[in-house]
Amino acid sequence: MANETFLRADGVSRSYGGAVQSGVSNISLDVTPGKITAIIGESGSGKSTLLRLLYGLLSPDSGTVSFNGERIWGPEEKLIPGHDAMKMVTQHTDDLNLFARVWDNVSAMLPNTNVQAKEEKTEQVLRQLNMMHLALKRVSDLSGGEKQRVAIARAIITRPQILLLDEPFNQVDTSFREGLQHDIRQIVKETGITVIMVSHDPAEVLSMADELIVLKNGEIVETGHPKELYNNPRNLYTAELLTNCNVLTADEAKQCDINIDKQTVVIYPEWIRIATMLKTNEWQVKEVLFKGFYEDLILESNDVILRAVNNEPDAYREGDVVGIKVKKWLEY
Ligand code: ADP
Ligand code: MG
Repeated sequence: MANETFLRADGVSRSYGGAVQSGVSNISLDVTPGKITAIIGESGSGKSTLLRLLYGLLSPDSGTVSFNGERIWGPEEKLIPGHDAMKMVTQHTDDLNLFARVWDNVSAMLPNTNVQAKEEKTEQVLRQLNMMHLALKRVSDLSGGEKQRVAIARAIITRPQILLLDEPFNQVDTSFREGLQHDIRQIVKETGITVIMVSHDPAEVLSMADELIVLKNGEIVETGHPKELYNNPRNLYTAELLTNCNVLTADEAKQCDINIDKQTVVIYPEWIRIATMLKTNEWQVKEVLFKGFYEDLILESNDVILRAVNNEPDAYREGDVVGIKVKKWLEY
């Protein structure tokens, strides 16, 4: 039978020793080629450990990582750690030559055997990452976001099959971030490269990823497409990672006319409809948080606090009393 696996982890565990839980345990996953897979989880949940295991920078204590059916060698077995078909970019851009120009930093990744091809490929990658205008600048003169682009250009110019990104956009300010996220999606479409990224930014993973892997305490708690996981997370943990949701006890939920047998109710801010005419409990507008084309309203009723999205800015003021209707909720 033909082996159709690409990058696969099979029962992989790795701990760092010590009394407290560390590393990851019993991870099994298959990475889909040509897609963006995002690993999400709270700080310390094992995201970086998993990425390093997939790349071969760490050896598993048990289980195996394989690429195209062949086991990935760990750092003890390989002279230069990391699988040759992969490149990894982290927040640290230490390996850039600060005193050299962007162009030279990127082209230095290619051999000198074919100078013309080297020039062409360098230009192509700089164009793909929208940085031709920076080509002649010295890296030391660049912003954090621009340096990240150089690091990514250096990673992809050698045409790895897999690009691993460990929270590389953390230091990049929001306006730059969106551009870079878009460019990476575009590169995935154009080149078919596979991306595995670690992030704890919900907006980033929801807009970028094709598949999500949710880690908690070193274990996978669920996987799926971003929309699926956003709309129907099987775990409260996932809902809290992906949204700024309201979490109420069953008792508190009664204030919203929700009666459940389970313990916890989750209501996303956009699932709350606000109206002055509704005959429900009275909710007082405690705060109106301006967000541009919408507002977040902080509502209170008998000590229960709710955050609701209001798409008609200026309709309500602090102190107003309103009714609410909850269109959807989740129970845990
Ligand atoms: P994340 O990237 O999700 O923040 P990590 O993979 O870095 O998580 O870490 C997972 C767990 O393993 C954490 O509890 C962390 O403290 C522990 N850990 C990570 N690296 C080491 C190390 N080199 N030595 C000891 N413990 C570590
Ligand atoms: Mg990490």
